[in-house]
Amino acid sequence: MYGQDDKVITQSKLEKVLFNNEEYMKELKSIVMIQCVGSRNEEHPYCSRMCCAEAIKNALKAREINPDINVIILYRDIRTYGFKEKYYNIARDKGIIFIEFDENKPPEVKKENSQLNIVLEGKDVGKLKIDTDLVVLSTGIVPPEDNFDLAKMLKVPLNEDKFFLEAHVKLRPSDFATEGIFLCGTARGTANISESIAQAISAASRAVTILSKETLETEGVTAHVLEEKCLGCGRCVEICPYKAIELIEVDKQMGLFSNTIKKAHVIKVVCKGCGTCVAECPDSAMNLDHFGTTQIAPMIEEAIQVKEKEWTPRIIAFLCNWCSYAGADLAGVSRYQYPPNIRIIRVMCSGGISRSYILKAFLNGADGVFVGGCHIGDCHYISGNEYALDRLDHIKNFLGKIGIEEERFERHWISASEGKQFSEIVTEFTKKIEMLGERVKNS
Ligand code: SF4
Ligand code: SF4
Ligand code: SF4
Repeated sequence: MYGQDDKVITQSKLEKVLFNNEEYMKELKSIVMIQCVGSRNEEHPYCSRMCCAEAIKNALKAREINPDINVIILYRDIRTYGFKEKYYNIARDKGIIFIEFDENKPPEVKKENSQLNIVLEGKDVGKLKIDTDLVVLSTGIVPPEDNFDLAKMLKVPLNEDKFFLEAHVKLRPSDFATEGIFLCGTARGTANISESIAQAISAASRAVTILSKETLETEGVTAHVLEEKCLGCGRCVEICPYKAIELIEVDKQMGLFSNTIKKAHVIKVVCKGCGTCVAECPDSAMNLDHFGTTQIAPMIEEAIQVKEKEWTPRIIAFLCNWCSYAGADLAGVSRYQYPPNIRIIRVMCSGGISRSYILKAFLNGADGVFVGGCHIGDCHYISGNEYALDRLDHIKNFLGKIGIEEERFERHWISASEGKQFSEIVTEFTKKIEMLGERVKNS
């Protein structure tokens, strides 16, 4: 009926009427508000967060203008979060009627002989028909359609609801993963005006941290291309979570012949050093400064060197810097015991653990290999662990084919706060490797 009958309006239209046309409000006998219109459904599964508070605010204002008006709010849940709960209680005290409806049977708005009415199945009151003068729809907040184009232009990600995705919800809520771009308000998702203002202040402060400097320092750990090896396949460009790699054209002269070929090029100021490109490059043409193959390979060799007199499992654990390594650290400081068989190698991101690291560990004599990363959705490099997931599942199958029991390899997502879980998981894994026994070193 919305758009067909001018007695069916949205909350924002009602707000204008309440502030500009009090006389009209005084003529009305009843208003019915319907919550969650266009929210919490298949298309928009999230809660818009402010329409419940908005409805209650408007209901109270309508009552203030016209104390005899009946206001009925039809709802699925009332979500007046924070201090707004106070207004829900005031509304109840003032006689605003709240009726819960079944989400599978939403209210229907009809018109019979010029009388608007609403038919619904209330959870506690059964089938109901309510005559009303005005129907107000609490419509939700939806992201603009051009978010997708803007995201592509700025090379920043969108979340599953098509709002912009911050670098980290707790650690960097006003930043994008891409340096120098910040976000606030309804760009991030649903937010009311005071939340948007607070976020805008935060985003502006973050921008000042850049604008106030004359020069900027790049990350120490960044990727570089071994140009002579690069095939220009573009895989690294595709997977870099920060869009820090581009393909450039390079002129090659070979005797009498010259041609133009494509090579990867890392934009150092944008690279965050996750190492995902290093692990994904099919031709080992990428490396990471300070945390690359040059550093990790000798660590693998050394970790296997130490042998006890009696056999005891030698397990290499590759742990990501931000979650699993911090989880292991927490296990230590919290005095959760775990076996000394676990020899930890820190990597920046599980996305940077290449197949060659795992194979090298086994081929050098490890009895087991363990990989720990951030939980899916919590990766500090946006999507590094998602690439790790595919790669590591693939390597597990591959191990079986080359005669190494698949059980000798495990991958777990462990957060920085899961020290206890870390100690339990690696203890179990060590017991399993003990049961499997010493692995005969492959030639
Ligand atoms: S705030 Fe209330 S009306 Fe809005 S989507 Fe959430 S539950 Fe529904
Ligand atoms: S994935 Fe490797 S080979 Fe392919 S373009 Fe990138 S660096 Fe070059
Ligand atoms: S190290 Fe990570 S951020 Fe840097 S270029 Fe490679 S994939 Fe991109």
